[in-house]
Amino acid sequence: MLAGELYRLLMAGADRDRDFTRHVLACSLALAHGERGRKLDAALGLSANHVTALLLTHFPHAAAFVADRLAFDGQGDQPASLEEPDLRQLLLDNRATNGPEGVWLAHIIARRSLESNHLWQDLGLRDRSDLSRLMRDFFTPLALANMRDMKWKKFFYRTLCQNEGVLICKSPVCDNCDDFAICFGAEDGHSLLAQNARVSA
Ligand code: SF4
Repeated sequence: MLAGELYRLLMAGADRDRDFTRHVLACSLALAHGERGRKLDAALGLSANHVTALLLTHFPHAAAFVADRLAFDGQGDQPASLEEPDLRQLLLDNRATNGPEGVWLAHIIARRSLESNHLWQDLGLRDRSDLSRLMRDFFTPLALANMRDMKWKKFFYRTLCQNEGVLICKSPVCDNCDDFAICFGAEDGHSLLAQNARVSA
């Protein structure tokens, strides 16, 4: 199944703004499903049990259909890099909700942050404003700490380094830093999910 088709199946006509949680989970599931070379749970940084619970909770109408067609790695939540557990924990420690969605999204964001595009793209989202809302809704303390809207991957790794007492910045103050544009510049680009749907059409 193509990524765009899977997104539409998962959403089943739901409004992506009104049912935002479902939208962001459907985006990540659909984009990760379309990737070659690794199974869905590994592409999302989730255990197979997490993926199953996510499907049953938010996409019960499609859970059986999807589960029949998707293979699991079985080790999806095992770290894929040295820094992934720290980033996952940073997100878990800053959850604004009590439900499992915050846990699933912490895993998904930590895993997708290892990809090479803008984070909003590698989450399959429409644009950067989707990611801003996701962070505000689910990881509010981090959204408040990033009031100046630093690129999220930059923000995450700067925070992790600061927590470890590691100085990675060229300047103590962002406004005086030669790298300001790198950390705060625009994150334009195409939605990878929309691109995938067009290429596959
Ligand atoms: S702009 Fe400079 S000081 Fe600010 S986070 Fe980036 S590298 Fe660090």
